[in-house]
Amino acid sequence: MKRDFDVVVVGGAMAGAGTAALLAATPATQGLRIALVEPRPATPPAADAPLDLRVSALSRASQQLLERTGAWTAVAARAAPYQRMEVWEERQDPAGPDALVFDAAELGEPDLGHIGENLTIQAALTERAEALGVVLLRADLATLEATRDAVRLGLGDGREFRAGLVVGADGAESAVRRQAGIDTRGRDYGQRALVAHLASERPHGDTARQRFLDTGPLALLPLADGRCSLVWSTLPELAQELTQCPEDEFSVRVTAASGGVLGRLVPTTARASFPLRLMHARRYAAERVALVGDAAHTVHPLAGQGINLALLDAAALVDVLGEALAAGDDPGELAVLRRYERWRKAEALPAIALLDGIQRLYLGGNPLQSRLRRGALGLAQSSGTFKRALMRRALGVAGEVPASVRRAPS
Ligand SMILES: Cc1cc2nc3c(=O)[nH]c(=O)nc-3n(C[C@H](O)[C@H](O)[C@H](O)COP(=O)(O)OP(=O)(O)OC[C@H]3O[C@@H](n4cnc5c(N)ncnc54)[C@H](O)[C@@H]3O)c2cc1C
Repeated sequence: MKRDFDVVVVGGAMAGAGTAALLAATPATQGLRIALVEPRPATPPAADAPLDLRVSALSRASQQLLERTGAWTAVAARAAPYQRMEVWEERQDPAGPDALVFDAAELGEPDLGHIGENLTIQAALTERAEALGVVLLRADLATLEATRDAVRLGLGDGREFRAGLVVGADGAESAVRRQAGIDTRGRDYGQRALVAHLASERPHGDTARQRFLDTGPLALLPLADGRCSLVWSTLPELAQELTQCPEDEFSVRVTAASGGVLGRLVPTTARASFPLRLMHARRYAAERVALVGDAAHTVHPLAGQGINLALLDAAALVDVLGEALAAGDDPGELAVLRRYERWRKAEALPAIALLDGIQRLYLGGNPLQSRLRRGALGLAQSSGTFKRALMRRALGVAGEVPASVRRAPS
């Protein structure tokens, strides 16, 4: 069957635009004919536009992918590096000996990552993908039919294409996953994440902070313009109340919930909240179909790992497809895609289980549970090796790091 494209990536947010751009930028895969299907591609914000509400903590591996694709300069211009991370429990003092403190200097790294703007990341990756020859199809996927030789794709605007491989990067409600017959499992976290940007009385000092409250974690992430991004995961009814209450009341409540760590906090943007769900696809690959990012897994934002897992999926897939091409194999064959699935499941499942365990341990006001979690933070703080291993994992420089985003040895 004649193919119009070798690879069609469905969904052009961070995971999809990242996959398409990295495929086009990597020598082993850049000969492929690639299309990116996205109904609403991101456009870059004006240089003087205020930072958008949605931001992400980018690991070193994610930075590498952005550098390899040529998207980093645009992202870095609106991103903030952070050198420290402080984690403490509601009943602890953030400056006390049992609070967990990560410091880039302990790892010999310049920083622990960057807080980047989702919109800029998506726009820069899309722009780079197009500049590297990826065909952008501004439509949504309507139908998908996979056979042994090719996948037939029908778009919402009536166009039809045939491809050797479809990459589902179309988010948690993935149509690709559904049409490929891949089941999921998971659970509702029973929480919503409330986001807003805040001005703080004291400077954030390039430090990311997270306070575990009985109702869920509250994170303050440092932004490039001196403000903080709030990600407050809490009970749905509380999230609704906090989204709707007057600004003055919100300021008082968020300042109290942060333990006053940065003095008075004042909202400078609208407030929005998102439902939180743990979801894991039973398979990441099917006949001529592979899943990346939220289409394959959604996790709690407490460790800021969603987009980092997504970009590592993208990089692992690029590695596997490159190896298949070098060996003369058809990159859409199930045997090839199973290699990707085994690799990423082995990396993602422990991360998902760890995040789920932390989420369960750090929810609820039971005194025994509270003692346990304070103990866990203190133990992690005092154990140098474990702490450094955690930091390396969060930075995306430990585990089986894909060659396409591995740092050149210094
Ligand atoms: C409050 C909150 C805070 C977070 N903070 C962080 C953080 O600090 N760090 C971090 O790493 N992660 C964070 N995450 C998680 C992160 O935002 C997600 O993991 C990430 O955005 C997923 O990216 P994605 O590209 O896989 O999916 P999405 O962003 O969901 O993108 C899916 C894309 O597919 C397109 N699409 C959908 N259906 C179709 C179709 N039929 N045809 C074509 N296209 C389609 C959509 O238009 C969209 O562009 C957070 C999440 C939340 C809720």
